[in-house]
Amino acid sequence: MRLSQAFLPVLKESPSDAQIVSHKLMLRAGLVRQTAAGIYAWLPLGLRVLNKIEQIVREEQDKAGAIELLMPTLQSADLWRQSGRYDAYGPEMLRIRDRHDREILYGPTNEEMITALFAAETTSYRQLPRTLYHIQWKFRDEVRPRFGVMRGREFLMKDAYSFDLDEAGARLSYYKQMLAYLRTFQRMGIQAVPMRAANGPIGGDLSHEFIVLAPTGESEVFYDSAYDSFDWSQAELNYADEAGLKGLFDRVNNTYAATDETHDEEAWAKLPEASRRTGRGIEVGHIFYFGTKYSESMGLKVSGPDGTNVVPHMGSYGVGVSRLVGAIIEASHDDNGIVWPEAVAPWAVGLVTMRGDDAASQQAAGDLYDQLTAAGVEVLYDDRDERGGAKLAGMDLMGIPKQLILGPRGLAAGTVELKDRRTGEKEEISIESALARLT
Ligand code: ATP
Ligand code: MG
Ligand code: MG
Ligand code: MG
Repeated sequence: MRLSQAFLPVLKESPSDAQIVSHKLMLRAGLVRQTAAGIYAWLPLGLRVLNKIEQIVREEQDKAGAIELLMPTLQSADLWRQSGRYDAYGPEMLRIRDRHDREILYGPTNEEMITALFAAETTSYRQLPRTLYHIQWKFRDEVRPRFGVMRGREFLMKDAYSFDLDEAGARLSYYKQMLAYLRTFQRMGIQAVPMRAANGPIGGDLSHEFIVLAPTGESEVFYDSAYDSFDWSQAELNYADEAGLKGLFDRVNNTYAATDETHDEEAWAKLPEASRRTGRGIEVGHIFYFGTKYSESMGLKVSGPDGTNVVPHMGSYGVGVSRLVGAIIEASHDDNGIVWPEAVAPWAVGLVTMRGDDAASQQAAGDLYDQLTAAGVEVLYDDRDERGGAKLAGMDLMGIPKQLILGPRGLAAGTVELKDRRTGEKEEISIESALARLT
């Protein structure tokens, strides 16, 4: 992308209506604009990041054996009357009437719809187990939408739903999602600790929240420092290995981590003091096992191996895809702006000419841009005739991980500067080695 032709509005001043750093930076760097309370338009830069996060979530769900589909945002009230949640859900649900005076709602979640859909197509135990998911916009009429996309009213969620013949099967589906979540967040370059959670009105007795540590988080957290060094990408764990998955779950369960809601002082006191970590965190994912609550109420049953009817056991698994954009910034920024982990960066490389009016610089940068782009590298090229310092500040604000800086003096000697956004380190290298390093 050439900046001279882009739609990348950057604010010079720090917006005064934003309270936390990620919200400020998302406005300043031009990721989003609020169009109504808690409702956001995603500008090109924000959309690129949102899409990268969504794609990582999708790939890890697919690896875990979950199957993607897409359900609508609008749902009929009748569906929710069947589970009893139409009245129970309360004012967070946005209720609408169509021209025929039929009651519909903008879905805050999809347990009812997926269970009804699945029930209509499933008759035999042979069609189980299945885990289905979609990545779709949700609406919750939050009392206090705040912190930008972190607590919006309209937000993007990945929600998966598992269907199993019995509790043992459902637990295995739960373990698979737990592993998928740990890998998903690790791939995004953030640490999300699984914490024992209360199930709440959704019902059931097994639930974990995934919490990203950040000082501005809404929950208080307590966890064992062992989480700081766990590596969930280890190849030996795979989704077909039932004993391995159970082992993973036991390991998580035996390593203390809780939010203020579930914190247990007695268990905490048993941890050596040096291992205790406390702080604040942001909920980016939440997984539940809730048994037959929705299968029962939505009429899902299948014939079992012996011919009698069985009511499947279910779980649901949410990731806050749009909240993650803010959460990652909370966890990864500095005084100059966003520091994107490479896996979610809007562009891998920022290309800057220090002298936009210098023909040799323009020529060299144009060539580099073409070569990198042809090699499949995502490059943001600031080709405007602006002060070099301002362009560099823009790249830092937008968090571009690698920055190639071209100046007339270096070019005369055949060199460019390669800067690392995270460390700030700069190296003077030849154009050839810059190309080799970045492709
Ligand atoms: P919170 O405690 O923050 O209100 P929740 O527990 O109500 O979230 P869940 O029903 O568990 O949310 O939904 C799954 C995920 O969707 C959450 O873990 C979170 O990442 C995301 N999410 C929930 N509400 C919002 C919101 N208002 N804006 C953005 N993301 C949200
Ligand atoms: Mg909520
Ligand atoms: Mg919550
Ligand atoms: Mg939750």
